[in-house]
Amino acid sequence: MAKICLISLGCAKNLVNSEQMLCMLDDAGLEIVNEPEGADVAIVNTCGFIEAAKVEAIDHILYLGQLKEQGLLKKIIVAGCLSQRYQTDITDEMPEVDAIMGTGSYDNIVQIVASVLHTNDRYSSFHDINSANDEYGRIISTGPRWAYLKIAEGCSNCCAFCVIPSIRGKYRSRKMEDIVSEAKALAESGYKELIVIAQDITRYGTDLYGKKKLCDLLRELCKTEGIKWIRLHYLYPELVDDELIQLVKNEDKILKYLDIPIQHINTPILKRMNRRGTGDDIKKLIAKLKSEIPGLVLRTSIIAGLPGEGEAEFEELCEFLREAKIQRAGVFPYSPEEGTPAAEMDRPDEETANARAERLFELQMEVMDEFNNSRLGTVTDVLCEGFDEECGLWFGRSYAESPDIDGRVLFTGDGIEPYEFYSVRITDILDGEPFGERV
Ligand code: SF4
Repeated sequence: MAKICLISLGCAKNLVNSEQMLCMLDDAGLEIVNEPEGADVAIVNTCGFIEAAKVEAIDHILYLGQLKEQGLLKKIIVAGCLSQRYQTDITDEMPEVDAIMGTGSYDNIVQIVASVLHTNDRYSSFHDINSANDEYGRIISTGPRWAYLKIAEGCSNCCAFCVIPSIRGKYRSRKMEDIVSEAKALAESGYKELIVIAQDITRYGTDLYGKKKLCDLLRELCKTEGIKWIRLHYLYPELVDDELIQLVKNEDKILKYLDIPIQHINTPILKRMNRRGTGDDIKKLIAKLKSEIPGLVLRTSIIAGLPGEGEAEFEELCEFLREAKIQRAGVFPYSPEEGTPAAEMDRPDEETANARAERLFELQMEVMDEFNNSRLGTVTDVLCEGFDEECGLWFGRSYAESPDIDGRVLFTGDGIEPYEFYSVRITDILDGEPFGERV
């Protein structure tokens, strides 16, 4: 039986595609292995979103090429965003790659693996990136209690700095009944936390049903027996309406945690970046969310050094971060991406963008410390995820920690089992991580 190793890079949406490919390969009777050394085929499902992601993907391909040279690996397949974006470059400049496939070709993976296993021809598969979603099974790779639930593919927002629409296609919602039945199946397998994801979940349904259907979908998901937490990632600020705010506020299963990427706060920059809404709209939304939803934890992403950002615009952004006190923020220096309108615009140089991102990051650390300190003495539900041998403590996540991006809560107590929920009183902060005791 051929041994296949799949390396998934990039975001959670890409990971779901990787999980689907794993399921297809497993169904086809191939053996899935964790390490590329000794495998027959290694598949890298790449990200090509920004420069850092491209570098990471290329490093992985080069490493696999070395294994191949040493006779430790037979074939290499490159999938995902990088190959969709740089098909010609990879084909021309990376002879170690045996097959290359785009973001519309995931369902072809078994055929592509068969092809590289049985011939020495280079294979390439690029199908329509705007085709309707097909429904596939998945091998969940995120452990036994939480899973991503992707509700749409692609994006139609066309922000001026972003390549996603050109590599993942236009926005395509999955059918509501398919999403709900996937949620039920996950719950029946023991999953307790569903992380609802798409490039923009607030747009859900507009393409398929002619109107926004996120609230309807969430109401259905909340009926799923066994699911305790539903977490929402990537809400476009302009589309967060009163109906959604009230639903998050009143529905116990929907976590009081929202990820709303705002990118910047200066209105002319937002307009230039083809973002809808103004800086004031964002400020009003954040104020409203905080006043309506007690205990709300917000996450956002910010880009420093966007075209049009002078000192004054940057100071406006700093001032906003100091005042809004958004507890979680990913800060990135602007990466001009070829083929995007923003890449053609005048912008601060790379050094300035990096220095500004660093300053925003430091500022955000202060906001986060303040948030951590505000949690002292509070009691929160924690999903236990394991025992850290090094520090001798259990660790897990509360509603305020989304997996992989927000860190963890450390805790002690008697009779604790991994993958169960516990009430924990936060009593200290250890190296930036909340620590508490089971109550
Ligand atoms: S909303 Fe804008 S930034 Fe986000 S994926 Fe779509 S185009 Fe890119």
